[in-house]
Amino acid sequence: MEAAKAAPELVVVGSANADLVLRVERLPGPGETVPGSPVRTHAGGKGANQAAAAARLGARVALLARVGADAHGDLLLAAQRAAGVDTGPVLTGGAPTGLALITVAPDGENTIVVSAGANALLSAADVRAAAGLLRAAPVVSLQLEIPLESVVEVVRTVGPGTRVVLNASPPVPLPAEILTACDPLVVNEHEARLLLGGGEIDGEGYGQGDCAGAPEAWAAALLALGARSVVVTLGRAGALVADAGGTARLPSPVVEAVDTTGAGDAFTGALAWRLGAGDDLATAAGLAVRVGAATVTRQGAQSSFPTPAELAER
Ligand code: ADP
Repeated sequence: MEAAKAAPELVVVGSANADLVLRVERLPGPGETVPGSPVRTHAGGKGANQAAAAARLGARVALLARVGADAHGDLLLAAQRAAGVDTGPVLTGGAPTGLALITVAPDGENTIVVSAGANALLSAADVRAAAGLLRAAPVVSLQLEIPLESVVEVVRTVGPGTRVVLNASPPVPLPAEILTACDPLVVNEHEARLLLGGGEIDGEGYGQGDCAGAPEAWAAALLALGARSVVVTLGRAGALVADAGGTARLPSPVVEAVDTTGAGDAFTGALAWRLGAGDDLATAAGLAVRVGAATVTRQGAQSSFPTPAELAER
């Protein structure tokens, strides 16, 4: 008889995508056909990446996501299991697995087309059906590649003792009900500017606050909008954490960056796990910047997430 599984330390709710990468001599213009390299398929999606990163560090992680009943779905589930993620809550079917079609030119410039596929069908009803899992979790980690109404349902469903971590990526205007649940709201510089009104998407200004000044000022503005705490990731400069108790900068180790894909996801997965384990925000972010830095030293996303032994070597 199989031993009962210990409850997860972290539940990630979010996306799983197959990343199809084609190298091209140059990016095609409208109406143009260019030859591509043999396709390489990688496991990706921000939810699956966060879960894989935490599991690689040794966390007990469960993923709530939706994939298609197809070969890409099988590949994503196999990658999650190989990283040590409990895929029991993953739902299957309804649409093809989400995918990102990525073309990369020799100078590294790229184009990306994302098809949400089954991610778009991870519904509020799916979230309610997982209420027991979500209520029992010390921390639930979210991103924005699933329907916003499902994210809202998660923050309504979690238990009183559950901490909600949200990586606002890709950035969209956030309703107050989500913002006020975030502890922390995790954004990179680009996302912070957009949320605070410094950018436009599809012609719609965000305009939820003030994006003038330094990252410290952005974090203060995001706190003023209702987030319980805020983390701004700053690429090679590390991260900034802010809550009612104050603000701190956590520098990133200096590394030779080879490929920054998945760095933010690895950072957030590590941060969420450590917060659920009881670390304070600055301590958790101190580990997360090391995990992010280790991730950029290797090609790929999930394939680049470090184990504890690899982190200790750095
Ligand atoms: P995103 O991937 O979401 O754009 P960032 O670029 O801010 O987010 O990276 C997330 C984290 O990864 C950073 O906080 C940092 O710890 C690490 N990181 C990213 N780029 C580098 C780099 N060039 N050198 C060292 N660490 C990095």
